[in-house]
Amino acid sequence: MTPLTAAEVKELTAGLNRLARNLWWSWDQEAQELFHELSPRGWQNLYHNAVAVLRELSEYELRVRLQEPALCAKVRRVLRNFDAYLPAEGTWGSKNAPALVDRPVAYFSAEFAFHETLPIAAGGLGVLAGDHAKAASDLGLGFVGVSLFYREGYFMQSINHDNWQTEYYTQLNPRNLPLEPVLNEHGEPLVCSVRIAASTIQFHAWRVNVGRVPVYLLDTNRPENEPHFRDLTLRVYGGDSSTRIMQEILLGVGGVRLLRALGLQPSTFHMNEGHAAFLTLELIREKMAAGHSLEAASAATRRECLFTTHTPVEAGHDRFSADLMAFAGRKFEQQLGLTSEKLMDLGRVRPGDKHETFCMTVLALRHSRAANGVSELHGAVSREMWMELYGVEDPNQVPIGHVTNGVHVVGWMKGTVRRFWRERFAKLHPNHTEMEWIEGCNSPDFWKAMADPNIVSDEELWAIRYKLRRELLEFSRRRLLLQGKSFSEGNFISFDGMLNPDALTIGFARRFATYKRAPLIFERFDDVVRLVRDSARPIQFLFAGKAHPRDDAGKAFIQKVIHLSKFSELKGSLVFIENYDIHVARQLVGGCDIWLNNPRRPLEASGTSGMKTTVHGCLNLSILDGWWREGYDGTNGFAIGDDSHPATIDEQDLQDSANLYDALTKEVIPCFFNRDANGIPRHWIAKIRRSYSTLAAQFSTWRMVQEYSTKYYIQS
Ligand SMILES: *Cc1c(COP(=O)(O)O)cnc(C)c1O
Repeated sequence: MTPLTAAEVKELTAGLNRLARNLWWSWDQEAQELFHELSPRGWQNLYHNAVAVLRELSEYELRVRLQEPALCAKVRRVLRNFDAYLPAEGTWGSKNAPALVDRPVAYFSAEFAFHETLPIAAGGLGVLAGDHAKAASDLGLGFVGVSLFYREGYFMQSINHDNWQTEYYTQLNPRNLPLEPVLNEHGEPLVCSVRIAASTIQFHAWRVNVGRVPVYLLDTNRPENEPHFRDLTLRVYGGDSSTRIMQEILLGVGGVRLLRALGLQPSTFHMNEGHAAFLTLELIREKMAAGHSLEAASAATRRECLFTTHTPVEAGHDRFSADLMAFAGRKFEQQLGLTSEKLMDLGRVRPGDKHETFCMTVLALRHSRAANGVSELHGAVSREMWMELYGVEDPNQVPIGHVTNGVHVVGWMKGTVRRFWRERFAKLHPNHTEMEWIEGCNSPDFWKAMADPNIVSDEELWAIRYKLRRELLEFSRRRLLLQGKSFSEGNFISFDGMLNPDALTIGFARRFATYKRAPLIFERFDDVVRLVRDSARPIQFLFAGKAHPRDDAGKAFIQKVIHLSKFSELKGSLVFIENYDIHVARQLVGGCDIWLNNPRRPLEASGTSGMKTTVHGCLNLSILDGWWREGYDGTNGFAIGDDSHPATIDEQDLQDSANLYDALTKEVIPCFFNRDANGIPRHWIAKIRRSYSTLAAQFSTWRMVQEYSTKYYIQS
């Protein structure tokens, strides 16, 4: 091969920089491998940050590396695939929702989780929003996301000597992230403002390129703002309720202002949870400023808005006192010509009830043409919850529907698994394009075809399970080693006998909100110890998760799990992995054999972590709440209890822990260790086949975004 010319090097370098600044690479295997290959050490040390990897490489180094024919060919191939992905012609969206191209859906969410290097989300809500954006991109939907840029993100978790969670924060540097400043026509940052309390607050924005779609992150860190307003967007759900209300005014009102400054006229404003509901007041203000009455402006705003509620848990619904509303929201009163009581009434179930606080969910429901919960059961629970708001006696008359959540399938696959399925996809579809492969991952037909033992044998499935479990154990040991370094010597973990590659590996990782009952399994402590010690049929547990900084009950759960992992008979068979995030999540859903989910029904509105497991051959063991109540069919995993729950919490905890133990000992463990003469657990593998063939496509964000589109986004 002749050496590359200077112009070719320049072109490829520019291409790589463009690629690193579009998160498309985070769901393209070869693109990730490319950055890894460019700097194996950097890839690991910089936590898979493509922008930072490129910034670390000197121009000289890159030039030399690009002269390697194989690497150069790979760069060209990836860039070609990237450029082929970007145009929206021929996509599902261009065919089915062409009106959204000019007038997109504006999707507002207080958090978005895209990738571990941009940690601006607290948990499942953000993961869902990030996956929604990725699927909207794949489908070519007219879509724009709006959120905040939290420069200290969500907290990092460390565990102190008392096994108590402590939080610390690191500053994100936008220059090292896939963010582009949003500029005005003079090439300077586009600055907008909102009025909060008695102040005018300026903000600029960052654009995240998520494949074809942009997500804008608002940032108040500007020199002209007073210091405490510069820090308004410091942390995800940071500070007290006055920070919270100000962040939400910024998100809702500021978000609409930014979209207008960009010249956008969205056809739908989709509020992902109540945090963004102040956007409705800004839309009303705009219309009143154009001469409409409050009533007409409200009605027109309602036609533009869609609201998704995400939890029946009371603490998940923001409420603000009349004092706080009068202080932070005084501008709304002036703009809409409302008394403070009338403003409060917009967020009250019972207008005029001075004891009722201002609820963001109520504001959103009052101003949406449609609203939905995130699973069938959650839809029903939400209709019950809000009967009074709609003044009806029959929950079926409450206009709240449901769209069950999903996950972005390709993005959640571990590399090992992506390669595995892609090889099989290629057998069915030689010469397929990148896009056809992504379509395949979201197609029920592909996963049904993969249920055929002639295409994927039991032996192959069992081999990949072993491989994934071993990868997870290696990952866990590496993390434990790093965690161990932060302990004093007395606490240091010994690795002898820790984690067994043959054991049935049970994972539990999610936020440590108390209703999720992380330590439920240990209610039967002595029984669990007996199971762990059964050398013929060993089991082990991996836990991870963060508790909200102010949730001491959640932190006590973490403390309990860690204490057991260090000082009880479970030592070596139970580990807690610190600093749960998307990367840890991917390792765990990939490597575990069983994904445990035991929320207090019906509080888990959907849950999504269990959906990430199916394509990895990990089986769900779950309460029939949220998505699993729809997903479970008796053959594709395991249920804890049945489609009912006792009335009191105490009864429920007792009954669920008994049911969990029963399912584990009567179904899960016998099935996993029931091996044939070749050592293969045929029945277990049959369940794995049923799991991916019935669940993977159904609980994908492709299905979810298509459902949102046809039910709600596309208007005749
Ligand atoms: C998927 C995911 C969640 C959601 O987990 P649930 O079990 O649905 O609560 C939370 N956090 C991270 C990092 C995730 O990847």
